[in-house]
Amino acid sequence: MQLQSTKDKQLSRWTVENSYQLATHDLGKKLLKPGPDGQGKAGKTFVTNSWDILDVYYRIVPGKRPHVILNYFKNGRFEKDTIYLASQKITFGVKVYFLCTCGRKCLKLFTRKSCYGFGCRHCQNLGYEIHKFNRRGTWGALSFYINRHQKIEVMKLGVKHVSYRGRLTRRAASVLKSIRKWTIPATVGALISP
Ligand SMILES: [Zn+2]
Repeated sequence: MQLQSTKDKQLSRWTVENSYQLATHDLGKKLLKPGPDGQGKAGKTFVTNSWDILDVYYRIVPGKRPHVILNYFKNGRFEKDTIYLASQKITFGVKVYFLCTCGRKCLKLFTRKSCYGFGCRHCQNLGYEIHKFNRRGTWGALSFYINRHQKIEVMKLGVKHVSYRGRLTRRAASVLKSIRKWTIPATVGALISP
């Protein structure tokens, strides 16, 4: 039997794309600022994977060890998670991160369909959909470029302003960079042109 290479081991069938993901910005802006009643912000958001949507109720507890309490119903169980938050001063305000139990600061946490609790991409052992394609094969190469071009379309939706003060915005520049990077090579293009 051939031993699995490290790369193969990393190719989990669980991916960032098919796990529920929660981003700090899903919880709104100025997370750590208490509301008019002096309490932390609370509300409802949702997380989604490729199949369904979960409602997630959250309550932020500011203070010395700021954290967010998540309540949601998953796989027939009510779940309650506490996730600590870390903040960092940036030019315009404060950037808030989730603090995964492994110590990583991250802007997104994930939970796999069959697992409980949120964790970072590393703790949940998630790969990216894109790494599943074997680009050396004809079909793999084609799937890869189709996937990347879908990604570019999604990225374009996030571009609100193309330029600011005569310069490309960060997001616009990122789309252009991706278009250049994922230009379909002639060998692959020949497969799809009539
Ligand atoms: Zn982690």
